[in-house]
Order: sequence, then structure tokens, then C-alpha cells
Amino acid sequence: MYDIAIIGAGVVGTFIARELSRYKLKVILIEKNSDVASEATAANGGTIYDGYDAKPNDFRGKLTMRGNELYDSVCNDLGVRFERVGLLVVALRQEDRNKLEDMYNKGVVNVPGLKILDKDEVLVMEPCLSDEVVGALYSPTCGVVYPWELAIALVENAMDNGVKLLLNSEVTNMKKENGVFQLTLNDNIVNARYVINCAGINADKINELLASPSFKIGAKRGQFIVLDKSSGLTKRIISHCKTKGEKEVSVIPTIGGNLLVGPAMESIEDGGANQVTAERLAFIKRSVSKLSDKIPLDQIIQAFAGIKAKAYLSEGNSDFVIEESPEIRGLINVAGINSPGLTCAPAIAEYVTQIVRDIYQAAGEVLVEKVDFTLRRSRMVRFKDLDAQKKAELIKSDVRYGRVICRCETVTEGEIVDAIHRNCGATTLKGVKRRTGSGLGRCQGGFCGPKIVEILAKELGEEMDEVRYDQKNSYILKGTV
Ligand SMILES: Cc1cc2nc3c(=O)[nH]c(=O)nc-3n(C[C@H](O)[C@H](O)[C@H](O)COP(=O)(O)OP(=O)(O)OC[C@H]3O[C@@H](n4cnc5c(N)ncnc54)[C@H](O)[C@@H]3O)c2cc1C
Repeated sequence: MYDIAIIGAGVVGTFIARELSRYKLKVILIEKNSDVASEATAANGGTIYDGYDAKPNDFRGKLTMRGNELYDSVCNDLGVRFERVGLLVVALRQEDRNKLEDMYNKGVVNVPGLKILDKDEVLVMEPCLSDEVVGALYSPTCGVVYPWELAIALVENAMDNGVKLLLNSEVTNMKKENGVFQLTLNDNIVNARYVINCAGINADKINELLASPSFKIGAKRGQFIVLDKSSGLTKRIISHCKTKGEKEVSVIPTIGGNLLVGPAMESIEDGGANQVTAERLAFIKRSVSKLSDKIPLDQIIQAFAGIKAKAYLSEGNSDFVIEESPEIRGLINVAGINSPGLTCAPAIAEYVTQIVRDIYQAAGEVLVEKVDFTLRRSRMVRFKDLDAQKKAELIKSDVRYGRVICRCETVTEGEIVDAIHRNCGATTLKGVKRRTGSGLGRCQGGFCGPKIVEILAKELGEEMDEVRYDQKNSYILKGTV
């Protein structure tokens, strides 16, 4: 039996798993998909906010600020790339200039480094912006990550510290008998003393397997355009000063050097409808052109949509739900973690650990820290970032680092093989992409894809036609069966 079963391996579940792996606990992380970080965590803006627009003393605002603060150390420990690029909220109309003042007065309580910049200062910082700019609010402590890189690193480290990961395992039923939760998965039963529900868009359904409805999850979809590497066009995250009801469209420089443009969120009925739409992408292009006519909208290499879960406590009243169910003791709901959930996730993990500690204390037990907790995970080699001498040494030690498989992103066979054989290793083409960056470039895997299929087949001991793109049945050579 496990002490704790965590349902859902998005960034929230993976952060909690890693945090709990500091203690002498038997923890299992259960995920319905064939890889971790496959839902909201795979398809978001990757921005780490700092609370510049949060209300002081607001719960979500506090989690945002604490989360932002934790990012440097977590990413450093896990070898995850994180850059504090800063964020500009740009005003294009004189009436928006006053709004910047209001935002500043509210935000400076949370973010002491906040500044208002005049037109000239903004254009020096970001010369590509429209000449219509009248000023901007500058928040220097916002940053960017690749969210999936972070979640994968968290799971690797959690597994190093004893957490068990179960993929392809959907929780379909749950009961509680004699103080023990019994979780029914597709082909398995898991018993645990406590359950942490981090099931994203399905969190209300998981709660209602045992409890009466106390919140309802609603879906919001955002869409992003990915632009080819446009060397330093914008160095910072650029957002616009919105009027009420206006959709947010930001320009976000990614860790890999591309630009993301989106998300223009919208409410949708079907939480599974994560497709892009021509209409919304056209809207995003029109909106961003007002910020700058130099954004290279003819250099789109990809577009994607992501769905976030909002938890409604009553009609029109939504918030994060992070608490032990008042009805089912031992079931901790971590639900409705919409934006800025990626930012808040490390702070949510601390908060949930405190809930677990309180539950243990109430039962007359204590959470005992492991003396042998491993804080750092073994670094992934990024061949293209090494200097010439290190590259030569690496190739000498393993010739596979001398074979470049993805030419757009300079990813070697050595890195791909390593990504397959690590804890929580890649088993699919998309899994390799997320771990190594192969296929993220201009050709989007057109050239390297077939070679990676060969490597996956060889390393996993599979026939080539068994290799999948991503989820079950997405066979690359024989199609969906
Ligand atoms: C378009 C968009 C842009 C965003 N931009 C930002 C941003 O820039 N900055 C920011 O801070 N936040 C941003 N967010 C919010 C952020 O992405 C989310 O808050 C965060 O990813 C939520 O993580 P999660 O782990 O709760 O959910 P998810 O990542 O959705 O994870 C839930 C997991 O539970 C699994 N699951 C569900 N049901 C079951 C079941 N029955 N059994 C087993 N597993 C199950 C799912 O497969 C999934 O892997 C954005 C969101 C969207 C959609």
C-alpha cells in the first residue's frame, strides 16, 4: 500500500511528487497519458509571472509571488533552463497610460522593482514595437521556462528519490474502505492512505467519484502561433494594456529562441477540444500587428492550443481549490489550477505538503525528512551549448555525440539515447522532442523524425512500426489503429 497516491502528472502533480519525495513516504504518481506533462502543462505560454497584476494579500497572488521566488533554486537544482527576461505591459493609447499608473500603484506592493517607462525608454528596450506606444509598465522579474522540460525534470528527481510513476493509467473509480483509498485504473488497483487530486480538467470528476459536487470545472482554451527563431526581435515578454473584455495577446520569447504569440483565451464547452482554429489564429495575428508590424508573421512554423481548468465554486465565482475535502477526509483536491498555475506550482507544492503534514499530525504521526534526499538530478547534456573542447571530449567518450540527428536544433544521437534511458525516459517521438528539443526547429521534425524512429526502435527493443508519435495507437509507420 502507498502512503500517498497523486492523480495527474502535470506541473502541479509533478511538483507535489517531488516535494513529497523529501519525506519518508511511499508515493505513487498516476497519469492517464503515455507521458507526463501532456495536457495544460504541455501547451501554455511558459511565462513565470511575478504578481505584478495580483491583488495584494490575495491567495493566488501570494502563490504567484512565492512560486516566482522559488523558480531560480528549483531550476538550478534540476538543471532546467529558466530566464528572467522581464515583461512589458505596453500602452498604445493615451487613455491606457493612466491605466498603467493604476497597475503600477497596485503592483508595486507585490513587485518592488516595477517601473513605468515612457515611450523613448520602451523603444530603446524593444525597438521593434509600434511607434504608437505611449509608455509601458516594466516588470523585470518575470521569466520563461519550457514547462514540459521542468515537469519531466521534477519527475526524474522524484523518481530518484523513490516516487513510483505509473503512466497509461487512468483512474476510473475510487472507493474508501477502512480508511484506505482504493483506486481503480484501467488494468490495476492502487491502494493508498491519502489521495491528492491534481487531475486538471478532470479534477471535478475525480472528486465526485467519492464526494458530492463542491466545484465544477470549466474549460478555457488558448492558442499560440510559434514563429521561427527571429534573432532577438523581442527580448522581453510583451503584453498590451487591455480594456475590460479585451483578449490578451502577448509575444513571448521562448527558451529556445522562438517567439510565441497568443493566447486570446476563450471559454469552451468541450474540455477535450484542444485544436487550433483558423478564426482565432487570424485574430491573434491582427492583434499582435497593433503591437508591432515587424513581428515576422510570415515565419510561422507551428501553432498549438491548450486548455486550462477553472474551478467554479458557484455561478461566476471561480478560484483555485486547494484543500482537504471537508467530506472525504484524506482526499486533497488541488483543482482549477488555471493561470498562472505554472508560476504557482512550486508554491502550491509547499502548501499541499503543509496540508499533508497537518493531516499526519492530526493522526498523531509526523512527516520524517529523508537524510539521503537527492536535491539535484543528473544534468542532461545539451551538445550545442558546449564549447569546442567539451564537445571533442564528449565525442571521444561516446561517438554517438558526434552524430547530429536533428540539424535544425543540433541534437545528437547521444542526447537522444540518454533521453530514452533516463528515469521517466522518452518512449515516443514527441517524448524525445520534449526532452532533447529535436523537431522544435524550422523543419518540425521532417528530417530527423525517421532517424529518431530508428533510434527509438533500437533502444526500446521494438519493431519500427511499433514506434508511436505520442499517445497510444498513434503509430508513425502504420497510422492510428
Ligand atoms: C493557453 C494557456 C496559456 C497559459 N499560460 C500560462 C503562463 O504563461 N504562465 C502560467 O503560470 N500559467 C499559464 N497557464 C496555466 C498553466 O498551464 C496551468 O495552470 C498548469 O499547467 C496546470 O497544471 P496541472 O498540473 O494542474 O494540469 P495539467 O497539466 O492539465 O495536468 C493534469 C494531469 O492530470 C491527468 N489526468 C486527468 N484525469 C486523470 C485520470 N482520471 N487519471 C489519471 N490522470 C489523469 C491529465 O492527463 C494531466 O496530465 C496557461 C494555460 C493555458 C491553457
